[in-house]
Formats: sequence, C-alpha cells, structure tokens
Amino acid sequence: MTKADFLPVQEALAKVLALFQTLPTETVPLDQSAGRILAEDVIANDSLPPFDNSGMDGYALKAADTSGANDRNPVSLRVIGEVAAGSVFDGTLRRGEAVRIMTGAPIPDGADAVIRIEDTGENYGDSQRPLPDLVSIKAEVGPANAIRYAGSDLRAGQKILSAGRKIRPQEVGVLASLGVPQVPVYRRPKVGILATGDELIPVEEELVPGKIRNSNGYAQAAQIEALGAEAIRLGVAKDTPEDLRDKLQAGIDANVDLFISSAGVSVGVYDVVTDVLQKGGNINFWKVRMRPGKPLAVGLYGGIPYLGLPGNPVSAMVSFERFARPAILKMAGAKNLDRPTRTVIFREPIRSDGRETYVRAIIKRHPDGSLTAISTGDQGSHVMTSLVKANGLVIIPEGMREVPPDTELQAIMTDWPNEVF
Ligand code: AMP
Ligand code: MG
Repeated sequence: MTKADFLPVQEALAKVLALFQTLPTETVPLDQSAGRILAEDVIANDSLPPFDNSGMDGYALKAADTSGANDRNPVSLRVIGEVAAGSVFDGTLRRGEAVRIMTGAPIPDGADAVIRIEDTGENYGDSQRPLPDLVSIKAEVGPANAIRYAGSDLRAGQKILSAGRKIRPQEVGVLASLGVPQVPVYRRPKVGILATGDELIPVEEELVPGKIRNSNGYAQAAQIEALGAEAIRLGVAKDTPEDLRDKLQAGIDANVDLFISSAGVSVGVYDVVTDVLQKGGNINFWKVRMRPGKPLAVGLYGGIPYLGLPGNPVSAMVSFERFARPAILKMAGAKNLDRPTRTVIFREPIRSDGRETYVRAIIKRHPDGSLTAISTGDQGSHVMTSLVKANGLVIIPEGMREVPPDTELQAIMTDWPNEVF
C-alpha cells in the first residue's frame, strides 16, 4: 500500500459526513426538552419583562420628590397604597405621594422610580406592618432607579434562539417565560454499539487468562449519550460470521440510525468483521493518516450507515471523537459539529511519524490567558490512562515529525464547555 492509499483526516471526515442526513423533527413537552436540539428558531411572542416592574422592595415615587433627601434631612411622602407582585395598583401617583411596592410588582402609573426600603424610615423585615400614612425618604434617587423596564431582557418579535442549538436549563427557562409548552426538536439519533472479539467479557465478570473486559462498548455508549443520542447496546459479537450477523440484525430490528463497532477493521489480516461487512453491506476499509485511529470501516450495512472503529481503546475513543461525534451531531441537527479548538504552547519536545497525531494532553490556562500543554505520558493506543488524565487532544499536523519544545499547536478542547453551539 502506498501513501496515496491513505486518506487525510479532513477528507475522511467529509466522506463520512456525506453518509448522514439530519433526522426528522418532532415536538416534545417543554419538561422533556433539556438536552435536545432545537429544530426551529424561536421568536419571542412577548417582551420580557412583560411590564415595567420593581427590582426592589421599597416605595414607588416620583424621583423629583427625593431631591436633596438624605439621612439627616429626610423627605416625607404620603403613602397612597401598596402593590404586591401579581397585582396592579389602581390609580395614578402624583407629586408628594408614594406607593409601597414589592419586587416584581408593576410600577404604578405616575411613578418614575423606586427607592429601596433600606433608604426609607420603614423596616424592611416587617412585611406584615400596616401601611403607614407617611414614609420618610432618606436618599435621593434618579428617574428609572430600581425599575426593570418592559422588554429590557428581550422584545416581542426578536429571534431569541436559533435552530440547531442544544437546549440547556437556561433555554428551558426562557421558553417557559415565553409561553412555549411544546418545543420543536430533532429526533434523537439511535446508535447501535457493537463490540467484537472472542477475548471480550462483560464488566461484571472475573478476569481469566486471555480475556479482557469490553471497555469500548461502555465508553462508546457514554460518548453517545453525552451527545444526547440514544445508545442501543448490541453486546459483544464473537469472532464468527453468524454471531456478528445476528447482532447486526438486532440493530436493524431496533431501527438504529447508525452502527458503531469496534475492532476487526485492520486490513491485511483475515478478520471475520471485514468478511461479514463486505458481504452484507457496502463498506470500505480505509487507512486514515492519523494516529491513533488509522483503520476505519465506513459505509452502509443493510442500508444503515456503519462506522467500524479500531479496537484499541484509545484509538476507538479518538476516532469516535473525530468521525462518529460529528456524524451523530449532524444527524441530531446540531449547527456546530466541532469542538472548540484553541492554540496551545506545547511544552515538551515530541515526535510523530508524519501522520496527523492526537496527543492526549493536559492543557492549563495561565493568568495572562495563554494555554500551555504537556502530554499525559505513554501515548500507546492501549493506554487508557492517557485519556483519563487528559482534558484535550493536541494535534501534531500531518508531515510534522519533530516538534521542538514550546511549539504552538492546535488543541481540541474535549473538556471545554459549550461544545454543541
Ligand atoms: P482488533 O482490531 O480486533 O485486532 O483489536 C485491537 C485491540 O483492541 C486488541 O488488543 C483487542 O483486544 C482490543 N479490543 C478490541 N475490542 C475491544 C473492546 N471492546 N474493549 C477493549 N479492548 C478491545
Ligand atoms: Mg479482534
């Protein structure tokens, strides 16, 4: 095999993404919308706040009436009533008058400011206290003081959320404020996960010589669920064509939108996976110019997109990150398929074999805003702790073999917030 048979990562990714389409939309109750991806822009029907209201417990008044007031020279205003949150003051406030007001209550007509209770002669701890006839004002306030104006958060007609963004708790809150009980979202992708290999035993079993626990199946389910997609656990297929076909059939029966398997994708060696996939589907076996994660099986099995990732746990996770994650997000309707990347200064000298290399790294932010990175140590593709210690993947670009210390490189910030926007 010559170099020409290797696919650069970006080319491989473009070919993978071409297999996927955004799933149809559905409507879910607001209560179940967190974590889903919004399928339509949201235009505000109402302004928020819907009416001018008080930001404090205190007295609504005309700011001009507080002119010159201080602790030693308070101004006395006539209290003409009171307004609590949830009700409306009936009447118009005039010069020399005040209305006792609670946080969130509408500003009475005629008032242009609120003074907080602490700046009056009244005791703010005592809400049961009967309304006084007069209130002494001990500070000067300007117009608009402690008023939260209608539309100061958002205005009716304004686009407040865009399709393709993940709904977080704060978006749930905004949708509730705007009176959206049913939310249009994309259907969640269903991803069938299949581990393959006679050496694999489930997590609850004792280790015996020659066997290892199926870690990829569990890690992949977690990667899928972290994206808000549904993981369908198809178990472990033994290295026989029958078992593999049966497990894949279970995925077809479960209506999965995508198969993700691990192991058995290296070409050259006879492997039951290659054989079954080539017969039952239209699958290509690629070598991607990346490290870890060189072998990849990509295509359709029973008409369903299929991504066969390498078996080594680090390779499986990194190639999931690079190919499966964007594919799932594309199906899920997410606008942004990429993790945030940042420029980091890689502290140590490091080598690569010329493939695009994903160094598991510890990235630190410094007070001046700069980011530095070091490797997590042994970068073997079986070394799971290299990922456990990492908070990002630093990329050594294709063709760069020697990386001197303090080289600026790009890092995929795998543990950085806001990745789905
Ligand atoms: P293979 O592609 O079958 O040659 O597997 C490559 C390496 O990955 C071998 O050391 C396997 O034992 C290991 N491996 C394969 N599948 C899994 C899995 N599900 N969990 C953990 N290790 C695995
Ligand atoms: Mg195997």
